[in-house]
Amino acid sequence: MPVVVSMLNSYSGWAAAALGFTLENNALIITGSLVGSSGAILSYIMCKAMNRSFISVILGGFGGETAAAAAGGGPAKPVKIGSADDCAFIMKNASKVIIVPGYGMAVAQAQHALKEMGEKLKAEGVEVTYAIHPVAGRMPGHMNVLLAEAEIPYSDLVDMGEINGEMPQCDVCLVLGANDVVNPAARFDKASPIFGMPIIDADKARMCLAIKRSMNPGFAGIENELYTADRTYMLFGDAKAVLTDLVKQLSGSSSGH
Ligand code: NDP
Repeated sequence: MPVVVSMLNSYSGWAAAALGFTLENNALIITGSLVGSSGAILSYIMCKAMNRSFISVILGGFGGETAAAAAGGGPAKPVKIGSADDCAFIMKNASKVIIVPGYGMAVAQAQHALKEMGEKLKAEGVEVTYAIHPVAGRMPGHMNVLLAEAEIPYSDLVDMGEINGEMPQCDVCLVLGANDVVNPAARFDKASPIFGMPIIDADKARMCLAIKRSMNPGFAGIENELYTADRTYMLFGDAKAVLTDLVKQLSGSSSGH
């Protein structure tokens, strides 16, 4: 939907530019062209980051059949459920923690609690970075905006291309309300609607902690085997509530280093 909105925005610019030619109004031509081209560029960037053609975004749904299947059942594999105190202990004693925020963080408005947790971990000597996927959330730059709002230092944010090389050395990858952008199916499942979309390799970290409310799928409507992987522990709940709990656990404990 955001791609469609951006494209319609672009069309309105081109229409204004065309009107400018008709009325011989240079200001209308220039502003119309700027709106038209910026909307087209934005749409192109979004389509590229999702590995989808513009035509398929306009004409197709996203994961219709698989979405129905996911809604009907849920994964057959068992999931490991972690507790806030165990997860706080594990993160506090890690050397390197990479946090992957997604749409769920935006919904829960959990960015301020996230900053607090990041500060607590840093105070324990843990290296904390934030992995930013270009289409995490529901608009380009969504995560950058929210993390900036919480005054998380820009230098702590790392792009997908750069962070993936660090994943095998990462002790804990904390997936915060993200789903499609960490779904390994994009790498190997040719039948998946997100096949070919670049993802953040959370599954390659030594351990993954995932915060979300349920096993429900994300935007693409497909299951995510990251959540049933051996090295993944789920922390079920609203992102803000779980982070607040983690902060409380970290506040109440002494340094593990
Ligand atoms: P997803 O939509 O894949 O997943 C978000 C997850 O957040 C859900 O699985 C949901 O699980 C969880 N969630 C929702 N509310 C909460 C909450 N209050 N607390 C905790 N968790 C919550 O998000 P991603 O960011 O991983 O991926 C973005 C998707 O959006 C991609 O498929 C991308 O292609 C698409 N998209 C992005 C655009 C962009 O420009 N950024 C534009 C158009 C589409 P649960 O319900 O179990 O809690």
